This record gives sequence, structure tokens and C-alpha cells, in this order.
Amino acid sequence: MPANAFAHLQMFLVFLTHMTTMNKRSCGIVGAGVSGLAAAIRMQTKGFKVTVFEANNFAGGKLSSESVKGYRFDMGPSVFTMPWYIDELFALSGKNPRDHFNYIHLDPVYRYFFEDGTVLDSYHGKKDYAREMAKKLNEKEEDILKYLNNTEEVYHLTADVFLFNSLHKLKNFFRRPVLKGLLNFGKIGAFQTMNEANEKAFNDKRMVQIFNRYSTYNGSSPYLAPATLNVIPHLEIIEGAYYPEGGMVAITDALVKLAKDIGVEFKFSSPVKEIIIENKKVRGLRTDSGIQNFDVVISNMDVYNSYQKLLPDVKKPERTLRQDKSSSAVIFYWGIKKEFKELGLHNILFSENYREEFDTIFSKKSIYNDPTIYINITSKHTPGDAPAGCENWFTMINVPNNSGQNWDALVAEARVNMIRKINRLLKTNIEEYIEAEMILDPRVVESRTSSAFGAIYGNASNNKFAAFLRHANFSREIKNLYFCGGSVHPGPSIPLCLLSAKITTDLVH
Ligand SMILES: Cc1cc2nc3c(=O)[nH]c(=O)nc-3n(C[C@H](O)[C@H](O)[C@H](O)COP(=O)(O)OP(=O)(O)OC[C@H]3O[C@@H](n4cnc5c(N)ncnc54)[C@H](O)[C@@H]3O)c2cc1C
Repeated sequence: MPANAFAHLQMFLVFLTHMTTMNKRSCGIVGAGVSGLAAAIRMQTKGFKVTVFEANNFAGGKLSSESVKGYRFDMGPSVFTMPWYIDELFALSGKNPRDHFNYIHLDPVYRYFFEDGTVLDSYHGKKDYAREMAKKLNEKEEDILKYLNNTEEVYHLTADVFLFNSLHKLKNFFRRPVLKGLLNFGKIGAFQTMNEANEKAFNDKRMVQIFNRYSTYNGSSPYLAPATLNVIPHLEIIEGAYYPEGGMVAITDALVKLAKDIGVEFKFSSPVKEIIIENKKVRGLRTDSGIQNFDVVISNMDVYNSYQKLLPDVKKPERTLRQDKSSSAVIFYWGIKKEFKELGLHNILFSENYREEFDTIFSKKSIYNDPTIYINITSKHTPGDAPAGCENWFTMINVPNNSGQNWDALVAEARVNMIRKINRLLKTNIEEYIEAEMILDPRVVESRTSSAFGAIYGNASNNKFAAFLRHANFSREIKNLYFCGGSVHPGPSIPLCLLSAKITTDLVH
């Protein structure tokens, strides 16, 4: 091609790109949590020009990673279910997920330790799961299978109502699967607590405790949360649990790369200070660099703080924002200079008195002295996460959210109690192997992710109306303002945050 024809073609392509960009509607996203990233990808594939503003100099919010003295730690989520909602984002962008993001299937998923010396594994699949539990506990295999079949049925009755659609659009209630769920409302256990249903189903208090534990997946108490939440084990035991190659942070890394590849723009270290509203309609976002106009804004910031900090003049949905917030966590990220063959990727050391533990967290707003301890060790699957012969221990307990407690004193006391329990159950002296340490408490959650009161799962589900009292994915007051993430519908966890982004972006026309 002659040089001047080539130059003309180049100019034409630049002009074309400019025109396409000019005609695109724009979308500003506040926060690069997993839901903000998924929303960015979905909006870009819908034809919007998307800019993500992130307060931190890294993406992922709770789903991020840090290293100390040769040990790498995933800072927040560690249990990965329903990976197909990540795959869907690649497919939507015209890419094969397997070229960019991979994961392994876990079986067994958990190893449980009890004070009486019982050690058992939680397997994937109803039959294997029931066989192991019946072998180690005083329960019949058929009773466990019956329970799991019921959770499966309740999941299929409730998923369309509570997970896949906006609960705040009347028209959704007339869709056939939603109607079916509502007509079977009596079956879903909304009028008893998780613990009441589990105590009716089982005799062995260890089996009850194992199923009660799933209330902690959204930061609630099994003695208060409705039995509908007994569907959570369905996701793990029947649908399966997975581990991303490279650790949980690989999810964030893969989504950021995908978003960038399809044209999403990121502004890191750019906290949004205000969502600018004009005539009850979104106009743009204000950061320290000034105001940038957008046609649509999606806030992935915790909804409570979105209203308190970014929308000072907008009428607040007081009842929704007043709901009790979920529990939080204290985590010791320990570099351990020893390998523990008796531990797997996910390990639980159960408390002797679960009722007392939850009462201490939710009523006394303090930390129980014999807490249930979760130990996650990614170096079991990703050896590079710890030096040779060593392990990276993410050692977590559930604690109340931040209402001004003396956290320095509580964390110091918890450390002593946790070490004592670990030593007792694993017959070791763990302190002599700790060669690196980082600590997370509710204050850190609050400052790292702007989560109100350092709650890690938004609202607690400690009453039967909780699902209906999460904020909608859109604003009823302000046109073109939307919300996604763990603090709004359908709720917390990686899969639900991905569904939140889907519901939200489907509402944008
Ligand atoms: C310790 C812990 C353990 C967990 N375990 C699991 C688990 O095992 N499995 C699971 O599925 N889930 C788990 N979760 C829950 C899961 O991590 C969350 O539900 C999910 O990651 C929340 O994502 P999100 O999109 O709501 O945003 P977040 O992760 O809360 O991120 C919000 C982002 O917005 C940014 N932001 C906030 N305000 C502004 C602003 N004004 N301007 C710009 N940026 C802003 C923040 O900096 C942050 O990056 C866990 C969470 C924690 C903390």
C-alpha cells in the first residue's frame, strides 16, 4: 500500500475509534471489589465506556493478597464455590476461561477437629459425605442423606427468588420459578432457626454443630438465622468447592486483566469523595482530581458508607441501613516453620460450646474464650506460598463487628486462647514455630475496604426478613444510580457478589 494511502487509513481508523468512544454511554464504578470488577466487565461488554475508581493502590478489596518474610497470604476469602460465575465473565467477553483462569476441585473439602478427639473429613458429594459422617458420628447415613436431599430441594426452590433476580422489582415475582418458590414458602424453613431445624434432624451434637457452622458464611448466628440458610451446605457439599491455581487472589488478578483487555480503565489510589447528583439523576463522581461526568454510576462501596459518605444530601433508606451488621474476624497470618501432615487446605477446630460462642459474639459483642478456629493453608496446594518445609497459616476466628471495643486487648487475649486450643487439639507447641505474623481485626477490615463497622458480610441474617431487608441493586431516589457487592442484594461471598453484579448490570438499560 502506498505510504499516503496507509496514512489515510490510519487517520480513518483513529477517527472511527474516536467516534465510537464518543457515542458510548459512560459508566463510573466506585470500588474494585470482586463485584465491582464483575460489574465493570459486564458494563463494558454491554457497550459502555467503563472507568473503575479504587481507593487502594490494589484491586480486589477483601479478595487481595499480602506477603511477609517469604510467606504469601490470601487476606480474606478462602473457600471458593460456584466458579462458573467467573467463567461466565470470560465467555461474555468472547474468551475461553481455561486460557486465563483455572481451578482444581477439592475432595475432601474440610478436616474437622473436635475437643473429644474426633477427626473427620467433609467430602464432596452426598454419598461420600454421608458415609464419612455416619462412620465417625452417631448418625445414620440415611438421615444425613435425607437432610442433604432437603437442602438440595430448598436450594432449587429459593435460588430464583433470593439469588438470581432482583427482589425489589415487582415483575420478578410473577416469573414462573419465583412463583414456584413463593408457593412452597412453607418448605423453606423461614419460621424456625437453623439450629432448631438441625437439632430436629440430628441427635449427635457434633453433626448439629457442623451444619450450624454454615451460618458463619454470611456472618450470622445459627441460633437466630432462619433455617432457610441451611441451603448453604448444598453449595459446598453438593455443588462442590474449588481452589484457584495460584490462590484466591488469582480470581482478582484474572478479572483485572480481563477488564483491562476489553478496555476498562482503572484509576487506583483514587477514593471517590462524592456521587454528584443533579435533578435526582446521577451526573458523575468527584475525586481529588475533580469531577468526571458519567451517565451511569455503580457503587461497589459498602452501601451504608455509600450513603453516609458519598451521598450526604440524598434521602437515606433508614430501615435498610439500620439493620444489624454481620460478624467480623480476627485473623493471625502466621508463617509456620514446620509442616503439619495432619492438616489440609481447610481445617476447623470446633469450640466445645457453640451457643455460648455465638452469644458472646452477637449479644455480648466480645470474643469467646474457646473460639472455633479456622486454619487455611494454601501452601498445601501452592508450595510457593511458603518456604520449603514451612506452611502459611491463615488462622481465623469469628468476632463481633466494631462498636468501639478495646481491640488491642481483645486480640492479645484471643491470641493466647487460640494458641492454647491449637496446642491442645494438634498436640503441638505452635508458638515456637511462628516466624512471621500479620494481624487483621475489624478495624483493619474497615480501613482497607470501607466496610461499615468492619463487618465482613454486610448485614447479618439474624432474622427471618433479613433477605428482604438488604438494599436493592438500584436507587429508588436517584436515576441511573446502582449498587452491587456483598452489602446489597443478594448478599456476601464471591459467588453472590458475582450474581449481584449480574443482577445490577441487567437492570441498566
Ligand atoms: C476474612 C474474610 C473471609 C471471607 N471468607 C469468604 C470465603 O471463604 N468465601 C467467600 O465466598 N467469601 C468470603 N468472604 C466474603 C467475601 O470476601 C466478600 O463477600 C466479597 O469479597 C465482597 O466483595 P465486594 O465486591 O462487596 O467488595 P469489597 O471486597 O468489600 O471491596 C470494596 C472495594 O471498594 C473500594 N472502595 C470503597 N469505598 C471506595 C471509595 N469511596 N472510592 C473508591 N473505592 C472505594 C474498597 O477499597 C474495596 O477495594 C470473606 C471475607 C472476609 C473479609
